[in-house]
Amino acid sequence: MIPITVFAGRKVAVFGLGKSGLLSAGALTQGGAEVVVFDDNEKSVAEAQAAGYSAQNLREIDWRGIAALVLAPGVPLTHPTPHWVVALARKHEVEIIGDIELFCRERLVSGRDCPVIAITGTNGKSTTTALVTHLINAAGRDAQMGGNIGVPVLALAPFAPNRVYVLEVSSYQIDLSPSLHPTVGILTNVSEDHLDRHGSMENYAAIKALLPARVEQGGTAVIGVDDRWTREAAMRIERAGKKVMRVSVETTVRDGYYAEGGRIVAAAGGKAHAVAQLAGIGSLRGAHNAQNAACAIAACVALGIDLPTIQKGLVSFPGLAHRMQQVGRKGNILYVNDSKATNADSAAKALSSFHDIFWIAGGKPKSGGIASLAEFFPRIRKAYLIGEAAQDFAKTLEGQVPYEIVGVMSAAVDAATRDAEASGLKEPAVLLSPACASFDQYPNFEVRGKAFTDLVLAVPGVSSLSPQARGEGGERL
Ligand code: ADP
Repeated sequence: MIPITVFAGRKVAVFGLGKSGLLSAGALTQGGAEVVVFDDNEKSVAEAQAAGYSAQNLREIDWRGIAALVLAPGVPLTHPTPHWVVALARKHEVEIIGDIELFCRERLVSGRDCPVIAITGTNGKSTTTALVTHLINAAGRDAQMGGNIGVPVLALAPFAPNRVYVLEVSSYQIDLSPSLHPTVGILTNVSEDHLDRHGSMENYAAIKALLPARVEQGGTAVIGVDDRWTREAAMRIERAGKKVMRVSVETTVRDGYYAEGGRIVAAAGGKAHAVAQLAGIGSLRGAHNAQNAACAIAACVALGIDLPTIQKGLVSFPGLAHRMQQVGRKGNILYVNDSKATNADSAAKALSSFHDIFWIAGGKPKSGGIASLAEFFPRIRKAYLIGEAAQDFAKTLEGQVPYEIVGVMSAAVDAATRDAEASGLKEPAVLLSPACASFDQYPNFEVRGKAFTDLVLAVPGVSSLSPQARGEGGERL
C-alpha cells in the first residue's frame, strides 16, 4: 500500500466503498488523516465499519471540516445527474478527487523520481497497459501496474527510486485527477462510448485528451491518430508546446510510429526506420494490437529502453486473458479465448485476425446483432451458436455461413473440435468471440472465458498454451 501523507491531520470523506475506496480510506488513515466513509449500499457501510473505519451518513456531517471528498470512479460526477454526495461537496466548496489524484499528490512529495506512464483511450487501454508493464519488467526495471486495470493504484508498492508506475486511467478517473502529470501520457484512440456518463462526444473526447495534454515538463504525449478526435487533440497539444509522438496503423507519420507490413516503423522529421517486428507474435495479432504495441514501444523508448530489449519483450508478451488469448493447441488447431468481445465491433477485431475460423458466438444479444460482420463471413468455416442470441444470429448467417445452434459452451467446444479436426485445414482456429454480453448464461465475460478455457483444456490431446490459462476466475495475466 502507498500511504497518503498529504492529508495528515485533516479530515477526508471517502464515498463509494469498493476495493479502491477502502484502499483510499486505508492509505489516508495510514498517512495520518482522519477518515470518514460512506456508501449508498448499507452492506458496504457495515463491512467498512467491521474493518475498523468510521462510517457516517455524509448527509448529516458538518462539511466545513472536510478537506476533500474522495469519490469512487463509478459515482456520477456530472451525467446523467450529479450524485447527491457530489452536490453536497460542491455546495460546501469541498474538492472532489479520486484515488489516482491521491497517488499523484503523494508522488509530488515522496515519489518525484518515479516515472508514471498513464494510459487512456476508448479501446486498447488494458492491453497497452499490460504490454508497457511487461516491456519495462522484461528490461530488468521495476514496473508496477494499476488503476482501472483491476489493481487500485494505492495497492501498489510504495515509491522507491526508479520504480515505474504504469496506470490505466478511465475517463471517469481523469475527471477526478487534476494533478495527473504523467512522464508519458498515452491516448490510444477515441470512439463512441460512455456517452451516458459524459453527455456528448465532444465532452468525452475532451476529457480523454486531457491525459496526454497534461504530461509533465519534458514528458511525452503518445497519441494514436487514427480518428478525428485524437488527430485534433495531437495538434492542440503540440501547439501548446508539448512533445507529441503520433502513432498510426493506417498511414505513415512524420514524427512518431506507424505500422507497415507487420513491422513498427519509427519516424523522426520524416526519416524512418523499422524498430520492431510483430509478425509471428500470437498475443499481438491484428491492426488494433499493432496500435497498442506502437504506443507501448513509444513509451518505452521515451523511458530510454533500447530496441533489442523491447523486441525481446514483445516476443514474450503473454497477452491478456480473454482478449484473443491463445489458450490451447491440438495438432494444428489453435483455440482462442476472446470472451471480452461483448459486441460486434470487438468480435470484428478477432475475426479479421484469423483465417479458417470455427466460430463460437452468442449470448445475451446487443442491438445491431452481427450483420456488420458480413465482410468476415468468408473466413468462417462454421459457426456454433449459444445463448439467447442463437436464433437471431442464425437468421443473419442463413445461406452465407454454415452454422449449428448448439445452445451451450460445452456442446460448442465439442462440435467445433470435431469439425476443425475433420476439416484438414492447415491452421484452423476455434475462436470464442461471442459478439454478445454473457449475462444470459454467466455472471460476466471472465467466467465465460474461463468456462471455455477449462473445456478446451479438457479436450483429449489439447496442450495448454498459456501458463495462466488454467488460473482462477479470469484474472488478468
Ligand atoms: P480496454 O481496456 O480499453 O477495454 P482492452 O485492451 O481490454 O481494451 O481490449 C478489449 C477489446 O477491445 C479487445 O478484445 C479488442 O477486441 C479491442 N481492442 C483492443 N485494442 C484495441 C485498439 N487499439 N483499437 C480498437 N479496438 C481494440
